[in-house]
Amino acid sequence: MSVLTLDDALAAPAQHRVLTGDRPTGALHLGHYLGTLRSRVLLQDAGVRTFLVIADHQVVTDRDTTAGIADNVHEVLLDYLAVGLDGPRTTIFTHSAVAAIGQLMLPFLSLVTDAELRRNPTVKAELAATAGRPMSALLLTYPVHQAADILFAHATLVPVGRDQLPHLELTRTVARRFTRRYGALFDEPAALLSDAPTVLGTDGTKMSKTRGNVVALRDDEDTTAAVIRSAVTDGERHITYEPERRPEVANLLLIAALLLDRAPEVVADEIGAGGAGRLKAVVTEAVNEHLRPVRARRRAFAADPAHVAGVLADGNAVAAGVADATLEQVRAAMGMAYGV
Ligand code: ATP
Ligand code: MG
Repeated sequence: MSVLTLDDALAAPAQHRVLTGDRPTGALHLGHYLGTLRSRVLLQDAGVRTFLVIADHQVVTDRDTTAGIADNVHEVLLDYLAVGLDGPRTTIFTHSAVAAIGQLMLPFLSLVTDAELRRNPTVKAELAATAGRPMSALLLTYPVHQAADILFAHATLVPVGRDQLPHLELTRTVARRFTRRYGALFDEPAALLSDAPTVLGTDGTKMSKTRGNVVALRDDEDTTAAVIRSAVTDGERHITYEPERRPEVANLLLIAALLLDRAPEVVADEIGAGGAGRLKAVVTEAVNEHLRPVRARRRAFAADPAHVAGVLADGNAVAAGVADATLEQVRAAMGMAYGV
């Protein structure tokens, strides 16, 4: 697996093309912010061509309803705009508006085996989080759908959290096998991991919209304080930064450190005997301070829904054009450029 850091990517912005995205299963949280959103903004600002998919077809991988999906798409758009991603520079689109992605998935499905799909650890973890649901065929195959997302855009770099690495490996496999069968068309993209590849939620597992353990970017300051106060820590009074032995405490220290732009060990030393109570107060203040301008921008965009809808409409049109062109290339490579 090829994994780059943000510094690697920013050293040569013109060489990269980015695709990444989020499921519209709820508003975005601190895991998204520290895991990928901050990197996306810096890449966009450095002039890297960036595509963002609001992965609406992936909502039904592990649930039976699309209730509330339009609101969730709107909330994710507000989060993007609030953190500094913007319409003209970044192409923001939904799966449902780019039909060619679904068509690309068909030849890509022929390039992987069911055994490869079944041993994907992230798919297994996501299934386990659904409390006994059977595996839907879409859940099993969504990493291939994700390969279609990444490869239609000819992306070379995919900023993601650590849970996405198995999927990216599969995309690389699809690109490689496509090349072997039909000729060179797709690069094998690299992952971009941040300094916080897995932010934990209040229960000590991965912060995740579906697990209800999140600090949402849109939360108000009192809610943020209450959520952070409820986070599990451990029985040791003295605060130290030991990610392996004390993951929950280390997670809180890392959140504060990244937002304050300091080393987590230094933040730990300052808190020391202050214990978990002091640690949570420091994290709360760091989060609320850092997000204050983000939340203010979010409120301003929320008051202008026509602008928000326009960003998506424009992005959908651009993405659909790029995807159609890639589909033409695929048809030609496969010898299927007849009747079009
Ligand atoms: P859901 O529970 O609906 O799956 P989620 O919170 O896991 O939602 P996704 O939309 O699945 O969010 O993930 C979008 C992107 O954010 C992915 O690149 C993922 O790796 C990253 N990400 C999500 N949660 C975290 C986290 N806790 N820490 C770091 N990165 C994260
Ligand atoms: Mg997820």
